[in-house]
Amino acid sequence: MKREELYKSMGVDQEVLAYGRRIEKKLKERFEAIDETAEYNQLKVLKAMQDNRVSDVHFAATTGYGYNDLGRDTLEAVYASAFHAEAGLVRPQITCGTHALAVALAANLRPGDELLAISGKPYDTLEEVIGIRPGNGSLAEYGVTYRQVDLKDDSGFDFEGIRAAVTERTRMVHIQRSKGYQTRRTLSVQDIGEAVTFVKSIDPSIICMVDNCYGEFVERIEPTDVGADLCVGSLIKNPGGGLAPTGGYIVGKEPYVENCAYRLTSPGLGKEVGATMGVLQSFYQGFFLAPTVTAGALKGAIFAANVYEGLGFDVLPDGSEDRHDIIQAITFGTPEGVVGFCRGIQAAAPVDSYVEPEPWAMPGYDSDVIMAAGAFVQGSSIELSADGPIKPPYAVYFQGGLTWEHARFGILMSLQKLKEAGLARIPGEA
Ligand SMILES: *Cc1c(COP(=O)(O)O)cnc(C)c1O
Repeated sequence: MKREELYKSMGVDQEVLAYGRRIEKKLKERFEAIDETAEYNQLKVLKAMQDNRVSDVHFAATTGYGYNDLGRDTLEAVYASAFHAEAGLVRPQITCGTHALAVALAANLRPGDELLAISGKPYDTLEEVIGIRPGNGSLAEYGVTYRQVDLKDDSGFDFEGIRAAVTERTRMVHIQRSKGYQTRRTLSVQDIGEAVTFVKSIDPSIICMVDNCYGEFVERIEPTDVGADLCVGSLIKNPGGGLAPTGGYIVGKEPYVENCAYRLTSPGLGKEVGATMGVLQSFYQGFFLAPTVTAGALKGAIFAANVYEGLGFDVLPDGSEDRHDIIQAITFGTPEGVVGFCRGIQAAAPVDSYVEPEPWAMPGYDSDVIMAAGAFVQGSSIELSADGPIKPPYAVYFQGGLTWEHARFGILMSLQKLKEAGLARIPGEA
């Protein structure tokens, strides 16, 4: 069977495929640059594994208390090496990115301290952690106050605003690399470095924490390379490489990471306990694959931006911008556009491809939301996935793809669905 026929047999017609090929041709140079970053990061991870003498004994399962879990301790050393950090905490007991961030905050703040967010409002799920919205057990309930400095209109840091907001109670600064579901730009690691340097120039004792979700391995450097004290993320996003079935990580300066361990387990116990129950091989192997998996997702995001920009839709980031995370927003302007796109992504999945997603009233959202996810790991967003709130401006947020080949197929499938619904017209060859 010819490749075109195989695509056709899976629902993608010749016109959609040819349009995709045209777009792809224009992206050659950018994709080469992404491959070079992946090469660099692959070596970085490999070196971390070699320097820490990773061996198959490290994949053995521990149970119970998990005392002397050599594989766990070595994995944490590997993360620390790859991030050029002093220490790491990488655990299946960290349930998700929000949990990792909540641990890092609660571990290093004490009653009377103030947390200062300098990249504007943190990711939605942190609102209840901090107490911006009432949350059971929030930092606010423990007497930790909160202050926020928004980014400027060009998404740059408001340095004067930061200087004015720091007080002698400011103990920690929060910086979010990815835009999340906001419309601002994603911050580059270099931007983050400038902000950290600035904060330290006001008061070197302030702990600078970066929410690194979706940012890992997109660039050659990470926030810990530019002075961040703590860098935090989820293993069902980039660094898990699609293989980690759960988990989160925290890397950074030794005393702050130690605090996190005491908070995660218990005072007195810290890093010494925590059975790994056989998940470690997937953590190691996923981390090993993470640079190339992230590269594939990044190509998918750039391809999607160019495909939909070419059809006349608003995309953020636009087709030519530099990337600092793997999220792509596309504005359709109609509920049908959002639904059609998500149905295409779902139809392209390896798991649950036969399911047709519907918008529903998800808890925590103020409108119906439609989600497309046919993933091996539930909720994994390094796998090809999309979601969109059914409200103006009717935008979808798209991310992931364990391979570029799959990401491309998903995007072509989304376009096919929109074309069939009469919501997208493919332009003729220019
Ligand atoms: C995903 C994400 C989080 C939260 O991670 P969960 O694993 O969903 O809890 C926090 N911050 C950012 C920027 C994210 O993208």
